[in-house]
Amino acid sequence: MRKQIAAANWKMNLTVQQAEQLLKDVISADVQPGENQEIVFAVPFPYLDMANNLLAGKSNFSIAAQNVYHKISGAYTGEVSVDMLYSLGIRYCLVGHSERREYFKETNHELAEKINLLLLQQVTPVFCCGEPLDIREAGEQNKHVETQLIESLFLLSSEQIVKIVIAYEPVWAIGSGKTATTQEAQDMHAYIRSVLADKYGKDIADLISILYGGSVKAGNAKELFSSPDVDGGLVGGASLMAQDFIQIIKVLK
Ligand code: PEP
Repeated sequence: MRKQIAAANWKMNLTVQQAEQLLKDVISADVQPGENQEIVFAVPFPYLDMANNLLAGKSNFSIAAQNVYHKISGAYTGEVSVDMLYSLGIRYCLVGHSERREYFKETNHELAEKINLLLLQQVTPVFCCGEPLDIREAGEQNKHVETQLIESLFLLSSEQIVKIVIAYEPVWAIGSGKTATTQEAQDMHAYIRSVLADKYGKDIADLISILYGGSVKAGNAKELFSSPDVDGGLVGGASLMAQDFIQIIKVLK
């Protein structure tokens, strides 16, 4: 059975004091995740250690990095390596968020390198994919997402692909307040699963968690997560308020 995941993406928000308080508020609420559920906080680099220490011993709560560099080590001033994450005890990392693709020009091929390095170190990549508005309006969203999957993931073996998490995030829904309808989300998730099944077989595709991201809120999470191929969410804005994120955690399947 695949994991149901509520992942917070704080992006470049919060001071360390606010971040600490937010984590404390969430973990002191009555939200013990079930065996098959995972709560993940993707926090800014400087907060990784603090956040990981705060969650120490809390089962099914994890900290993620929001990014990692695609080289092992060396003269890359300002960058952070997979080894650094691993040595801090970090076991999840976002890869290819649309903001990184847009502002930092990350390519599918570069993302494949990041995923490869993360998997070598037993850090779970949360691979973000999704189409911009003009592609959706042209009805080309399936092709667009399929290309992202092929170019970033399809060099992986079956043993590797089951270790990743996918987040489908239509770019037009991120931070816009405009959510994909439950049907649009389910259709794309089912399509992603079918692409994975064609390459790796249905049994493998059925094991991979596919999260929906794009203006998930306390008020729409239950309906979105109820779709058979939606295994939770990657949540930006609503994860910055403890009460909202707690509500979202509570409606995981
Ligand atoms: C995100 O940052 O991945 C995201 C989905 O943001 P928001 O929930 O604010 O749309």
